[in-house]
Amino acid sequence: MRPDARRTCLTFVAALAVSVASACEPLILKTLVDRFAAVSPAALGGSVPRGAAAGIAAGIAVFALVLAFRIIAAAWVTTSTWRVRFNFEYQLRSQVAAKMSVISSRTQAEIGTGGLRYAIDASAPQSATAFTDVAFRLAPAILYIGIAAASMVRLNVVLALLVLGCFPLPAAVAAIKASRQTARDAMQHRFWTRLWAWYAEVLHGMGTVRAFANELAEERKFTRRIRWAFASIHRGIAVDASVTAAAGLAELAARVAVLWYGGFLILHGRMTVGTLLAFLGFVGGVFVPLQQLVDVYPNVRKALVALRAVFAVLDADEEAPDRPGARPAPRFAGHVRFDGVRFSYQGDRHALDELTLDIAPGETVAIVGPSGSGKSTIFRLLQRMHHPTSGRVMIDGHDVRDLAVRSVRRQLGVVPQDVVLFNDTVAANIAYGRPRATRAEIEAAARAANAHDFIMALRDGYDTNIGEGGRSLSGGQRQRVAIARAFLVDPAILLLDEATAALDTESERAVQEALRTLRRGRTTFIIAHRLNTVRDADRIVVIREGRVVGDGTHETLLATCPTYETLVRHQLGTGPSDSPGAAGTPGAPGAPGAPGDIALVA
Ligand code: ATP
Repeated sequence: MRPDARRTCLTFVAALAVSVASACEPLILKTLVDRFAAVSPAALGGSVPRGAAAGIAAGIAVFALVLAFRIIAAAWVTTSTWRVRFNFEYQLRSQVAAKMSVISSRTQAEIGTGGLRYAIDASAPQSATAFTDVAFRLAPAILYIGIAAASMVRLNVVLALLVLGCFPLPAAVAAIKASRQTARDAMQHRFWTRLWAWYAEVLHGMGTVRAFANELAEERKFTRRIRWAFASIHRGIAVDASVTAAAGLAELAARVAVLWYGGFLILHGRMTVGTLLAFLGFVGGVFVPLQQLVDVYPNVRKALVALRAVFAVLDADEEAPDRPGARPAPRFAGHVRFDGVRFSYQGDRHALDELTLDIAPGETVAIVGPSGSGKSTIFRLLQRMHHPTSGRVMIDGHDVRDLAVRSVRRQLGVVPQDVVLFNDTVAANIAYGRPRATRAEIEAAARAANAHDFIMALRDGYDTNIGEGGRSLSGGQRQRVAIARAFLVDPAILLLDEATAALDTESERAVQEALRTLRRGRTTFIIAHRLNTVRDADRIVVIREGRVVGDGTHETLLATCPTYETLVRHQLGTGPSDSPGAAGTPGAPGAPGAPGDIALVA
């Protein structure tokens, strides 16, 4: 709210002024009409006193001025209210968006992508709407009702009581319905959050849905849930309509009472026509703010539900935030050290347990190990996605915790297993890590990544839009775009998670060649799934249950590390009774059982 405090205060004061002007209208009208009656020739026996016409003209002018002020000020209040609402919504949305990129993966998994989207997409505007409703409607409504009630009591106590006596009906109906309505709002909120969280997953996994011929089932699930939600919304609308009808009936009763009793008083000469007009004016005006007052409670409750969703994101814990005063990382040479690192995602189960590793600048290390042994966790800690529970991750002698996270990540080149490309041109995707790169630099990176030729064969070359997730490219092409991305960043340290999906021989060769060029002169970690890759590494580190159980060359590990020997045996598809030596030269053409592209994962 703070950035918009001045406008908010001004709008608030203007809304109060509109209320005062609105409440003055019936009173000015009354004065005018009574003046007409007092100076009419019939009342004065045929002559109109001098100056009376001027007085009436002045009265009409005041009436016109007040009315014009009310109309213009109300228009300004409406525009300004929208401005405040949008600014408030902008603040909420931008803060939620900023938080999304640092939110801890645990909270992200809890809320779900759809839930996060709902917080930014629906909850923020709902909160903003309720805020402006309360800020710019509540006090003006109370002010108008107060002035109107006081004026009516002054004009005629009995008539005033008759009008005010009709007030409780809509308020009572709304109060009875309010708690059910609020519970329904909260339920709706939970429902849409879950629905979008679930449906975002379905859309993301559409390939799997189709592969299992489950399109119809998912579609039915979706439409059934939407139908249920609409039925619930419809019940809410019916409640709203009944409250509106009750307010309408109360207003009707007040009008009839005023006409009946007011007419009676006029006929007996105990009240002026102007007073009756003023009463009718107040009856017409007073039920709208009354309805607004009645609406405030459910609106506030609705806003609280929406705000809770927004603050669930804003208050969520951050993933390994920077320490206060964290300094930018210097240019890395690439000496990486894990020093007795322990880490668990949750509970007591350690994903990494006293892991110690020392990798010299420029060294290529293949990390192998059974599934779930902690290989990807090593990458995540190096990228500072998480902090170790104990121990230290060091780069060139600096604890990465002491360095600003962005300055660390900018020097890490990541080629993940599942390459994520965006719905944009090839050039923009390559330049993702360095958006200001020139076209020449992008092309040089693509050439180094063996990607230039296939890119030039695309319809618009580097300007070809590759569709959502890069769907128009093959697996091998996507990999090479990701490698070009890493080239362009020119990282000191490379993190390669080898793709497990088999590529055809030609693509495989192109990708491997590109990776070999990329690795030159950089410290490289490869999560290796193939023997070919392991053979390329300077060193192989075997991980099991978060610990290093082997570290050395292929030959020494075969002889000394049972976990590695088992992995190789599984890779080559040889039976448990085969001796380790039977593995032969890994990936060598003609090696027993051999293609070097079977996952190295037990
Ligand atoms: P794979 O070869 O199958 O990819 P990995 O060796 O890379 O496996 P990690 O992803 O590092 O294994 O996981 C190590 C352990 O941590 C596993 O037991 C896994 O279940 C657990 N784990 C991984 N990510 C999370 C997470 N976000 N929350 C909780 N536990 C996790």
